[in-house]
Amino acid sequence: MKRLTREEKFMREALKSAKKGLSEGEVPIGAVIVYENKVVARGYNRRAKLQLASAHAEMMAIDRACKKFRSWRLPEGCELYVTLEPCPMCMGACLNARVDRIFFGAYEQKGRSLTSALAEANLLNHKTEVVGGVSEHECSAVLTAFFSSMRQRQKEEKERKKLAEKSEEENFTQKEI
Ligand SMILES: [Zn+2]
Repeated sequence: MKRLTREEKFMREALKSAKKGLSEGEVPIGAVIVYENKVVARGYNRRAKLQLASAHAEMMAIDRACKKFRSWRLPEGCELYVTLEPCPMCMGACLNARVDRIFFGAYEQKGRSLTSALAEANLLNHKTEVVGGVSEHECSAVLTAFFSSMRQRQKEEKERKKLAEKSEEENFTQKEI
């Protein structure tokens, strides 16, 4: 078996968190914060459960890390690993918390991320290094599987409804006769 790189090892931890979300019916995205080669905080997308627009994996992990260090400014050398390219809100949170390096797995397909632009904008006088495509295949496979099973469920639901409507219609016609 291929030996995992340091980055792949931590991405695997983020994937574990993503799968926890999956088991709760969430879009499976996971994140971990690493400090001095240890995972110090975890998070996974909980948007559906909490009905909060901000309940992204990265936000959860950053909040937990801040609580742990009792500081909004994370200690120097903190890294964030996330299975999907961060959205602008999460990039903003990383900059605000002074995360030094961000590693993400799958690339956001629809160009809705401003990852590099925000990393380079130096908005808060803080430079964050961003590395994309870590364990990309594994990270996108988890998302692809989720979305295709969701589409399948929606299709089945639609067919069930159609059948139910049809039998109602038949009942109705029979009554008419
Ligand atoms: Zn986000």
